[in-house]
This record gives sequence, C-alpha cells and structure tokens, in this order.
Amino acid sequence: MTTEHRTDAARRPGTADHPAGVLVVGAGPTGLLLAGDLAAAGVPVTVLERRAPGHGNLSRAFGVHARTLELLDARGLADELVATGHRLRGLRLFRRLSLDLTELPSRFPYLLITPQYEVERLLERRARAAGVRFEHGAEVLAVHQDDGGVSLDVRAADGTVGTRRAAYAVGADGHRSAVRTALGLPFPGRSVIRSIVLADVRLAEPPPGLLTVNGTGDAFAFIAPFGDGWYRVMCWDRAGERPDGDPVGLDEVRDIARRALGTDHGMGEARWLSRFHSDERQVPVYRAGRVLLAGDAAHVHSPAGGQGMNTGLQDAANLGWKLAAVVRGSASDALLDSYQAERHPVGAMVLRSSGGIIRLAMAHNALQRALRDLLSLAVGHLPPLRRRALGTITGIGIAYPAPRGAHPLTGRRAPDLPLREGRLYEALRAGRFVLVSPEGDVDGAADPRAVHVTRTDGGRTTLLVRPDGHVAWAAEGATAGGRAAALAAWAGTAG
Ligand SMILES: Cc1cc2nc3c(=O)[nH]c(=O)nc-3n(C[C@H](O)[C@H](O)[C@H](O)COP(=O)(O)OP(=O)(O)OC[C@H]3O[C@@H](n4cnc5c(N)ncnc54)[C@H](O)[C@@H]3O)c2cc1C
Repeated sequence: MTTEHRTDAARRPGTADHPAGVLVVGAGPTGLLLAGDLAAAGVPVTVLERRAPGHGNLSRAFGVHARTLELLDARGLADELVATGHRLRGLRLFRRLSLDLTELPSRFPYLLITPQYEVERLLERRARAAGVRFEHGAEVLAVHQDDGGVSLDVRAADGTVGTRRAAYAVGADGHRSAVRTALGLPFPGRSVIRSIVLADVRLAEPPPGLLTVNGTGDAFAFIAPFGDGWYRVMCWDRAGERPDGDPVGLDEVRDIARRALGTDHGMGEARWLSRFHSDERQVPVYRAGRVLLAGDAAHVHSPAGGQGMNTGLQDAANLGWKLAAVVRGSASDALLDSYQAERHPVGAMVLRSSGGIIRLAMAHNALQRALRDLLSLAVGHLPPLRRRALGTITGIGIAYPAPRGAHPLTGRRAPDLPLREGRLYEALRAGRFVLVSPEGDVDGAADPRAVHVTRTDGGRTTLLVRPDGHVAWAAEGATAGGRAAALAAWAGTAG
C-alpha cells in the first residue's frame, strides 16, 4: 500500500515549472555551483533537494585544490573561502614522495584545507542571490523526457508526489543518484576499500605541516590538519574490514595509525568517528537527451588525492555556460555533447590517479614496494614527471581535446594573466567569453559577445577564453578577420 498521491505541480503552492529553464537535482557542491552559474546567466533554475532546509551535508571533503580555487576566483568567491581555511604547501604521498605545491603556476599555490560545508555555504549564498529557487524536502523519484522537455516526479516533505517540468534537468544527486537510476544507466566499477575509518581528532605530537599518507602491510593511514588544532585521520586495515554500520572506537584508529605510520601522533580526543566504504565507478555517458549527470552522480573514486568534490565542481563549471547557451537559444543542443567529450575522460583519469595512489600506498609485496619507491624517486627527481603529477592532482594540468591543427594552447587552462583591466580571472566574473589581446593590438570595434581586455605580461598571443577559463581559440598575430571568425564560432554560444 502507498500513501502517495499525485498533484498537479502547477497547483502546488510554492512550486513552478520552467518550460525554458533547468531543474538541478541535489544541493551538494556540484548542484550549487551549476545552479548559480545558470541563474547568473539568466536561466530560470530550481534546485530540488531531498534534505530538509538547514540540514547540511556532513563535512566529507576538506581539501580544495588550486584549479577549483581558480574557478571560485572566477566567481568572486575564492578569497572569502581561503579566509576560512588553512593552506597546505606540500603533499606527502608515501614516506618518500613529497610534492611541493609552491611550484604551482597559480595564484593559489597550495591545497586549501577547509570543510566542505564552507564551500557549500558560499555557493548557496551566491545561487540564492542570482535567483535560484530551492525546494527542500523534495525527493526526485522518476524522470520522463520527450522532445519538448523533462518531467521529474518529486515526493514533497508531506508525502505528496507531483511533477516538475523544465527544458533540461541535471542529476547532481550524489553517488546513489536517483536520476542516473531512473535513466537506466549502469554505474560500472567496484568497491576498492570496504571499510575506511574516519576520525577528527586532536594530536599531542602532530606530524610536520604536510598532509601525511602511508601504508605498511595491511594498514594504511592519512592525516591532514584542519589548521584549528583538529586533524582529519582516514585509515584502513585490509585485514580487519567491517560493515559500514559497525561502531568505531578511537583505539581502532590508533592501532591502524601506529601500524601504517609508525606512530599514532598522540591521538587524544575525537569529535567525530565513522566508517564508510569506497567505490571506483563511472557512468558510461554523462548525457541522455535532455538529462545530464555531474559530480558524484557521474563518478566516484577513492578519497586519495582529495579529488571528488573538486572534480564535481569542475564538471559544473564546464557544463554551466554550455547549458545556459543552449537553453537561451544562442547555441545548438550539440554543444552539450562536448560536456561528455571533455569531462568523461577527466573523470576516468581521476579514477586512475586516485586508485593508483591508494594501490601504491597499500603496496604489500616486495615487488609493489620496489615499484612505489622507484616511482617516488622518479617523480621526486624528474621535473616533467613532477609537474605532471602536480598538474593531475591539483587540476591545474587538465586540458580538453583540441581539433587537429589548432593552436597548441587550445583547450588548455588559461593562466591568470595580468591585464590592463586587472586579472583574467576577474574578467571571467562576467560569466562570458573573454577576448585577450596583446598590448598595442588594434582590436577594432568591441564585439558585444565577449569581454575585451588587454594583457600586460608582454605575451603576443591573442586568446579567446571560455567562461570556464579554458582557451577556446588562440593565434599569433591575430587579424581582425580571425578574431571575428573565432567570436562567431564560439562566443555566439554565450554572448
Ligand atoms: C570521507 C570523505 C572524504 C572526502 N574528502 C574529499 C576531499 O578532500 N576533496 C574532495 O574533493 N572530495 C572529497 N570527498 C568526496 C566529496 O565529498 C564528494 O565528491 C562531493 O560531496 C560530491 O559532491 P556532489 O555535489 O556531486 O554530491 P553530494 O555532495 O553527494 O550531494 C548530492 C545531494 O543530492 C541530494 N540528493 C540525493 N538524492 C536525491 C534525490 N533523489 N532527490 C533530491 N535530492 C537528492 C543529497 O541529499 C545531497 O545533498 C570525500 C568524501 C568522503 C566520503
């Protein structure tokens, strides 16, 4: 028997359909960034969130990488977020490999340690200010689509079920995504770690400022400082895996840490203890017609490298301007296919890199340990390998595929160039394409489809930068005709 009954969404007080808008399912970091971007571009957006208002997500992620900070900078939020946290200037992966983040060519040469709820707080505030509607206590149950739009069946807090309709919908509803399930999409992969123990503790003998990761035999442990005297410990005992619901005691955490790190660093008080499992999975397609998937709904992986929330936020930044352009009719629906083409390989790469870190940390035979030591030595001593490792973990090195014959900068991350008008990531705050010209270059009449700026770093390359901070087009000695063609090809899409 069911107590559910259907109501017409249009008759429900406080609900609205968006025939020319977007429904975002999930108010986690991915959904919040995406909804804010869409609303800032003038698209009507409603976020449907199962949780009741005021019930935040637990603080799961606590590391914000440089590329994510750049994307938040392009929304005017980075400096405020940085003020909430603590900067880690190095990462220690295994005992012998340290990565120096100060080498990063970024305004943010560090890993920011701050709880996930701080990221969500800023993104929600921005989304509300841009006009996003929130429906809390709204659980999406089913998805139907036709040529004209998408309808979602939604159960409200009072148990009634109604429909919400929009031109497009995005499932940003986490690893158990109801949207993904309703689309009938598989989520292939496997469980990597069946029982990770997580603790927020005080340490009498803390490790030096770095993030510490190591594995020995069956034990693996990771420690990161929050910067306020509390430390996040994540550890795993391969020989002692238990179901998620089994209680955790501080003694269990101490024991695993001692075996993995040689010390428990004087673990005293704990304010939070929990147990969870970690899967490595990725959905084969990020788009099914008018419905798209982003964040944990599309990919999950081990927490090593702290990339889950970061990858979800970067998915949202890639999708937002494209979806806004399509909904507003300034780009064809085909632009949305580039979301799959660009972000699916990044998700696959994150699965490989985070899985690689965890497997190397857990190396348990002599051959694997020798391989880990060799790799640590190589990354430590070969600058190109080190740059690659840094670029992968921090997101700074992520580039999107470029068409054959394109300028080598096409698809790459645009650095935060100094401009006559300020900085590039300040110019990106308009949420539009930015045309960057060298000094002295006569730009002709300003094209209203892009923000026009002049670089002051002496570089002679003209760049058309997408709203997500990647290079759409670049040219040496650009002509007025070349610039106009690039703007017509690209910026018509987000003008
Ligand atoms: C212990 C741990 C440590 C981590 N550390 C890091 C780290 O340091 N760095 C990092 O980048 N990542 C880290 N992660 C991963 C990170 O927490 C996730 O990748 C991130 O929360 C994903 O964001 P999301 O918005 O995609 O999904 P979620 O945060 O899961 O949000 C999904 C939202 O959808 C809502 N929802 C679900 N189903 C429905 C439905 N049917 N209808 C309506 N709403 C629904 C949920 O209530 C939720 O609010 C960690 C994860 C864990 C478990």
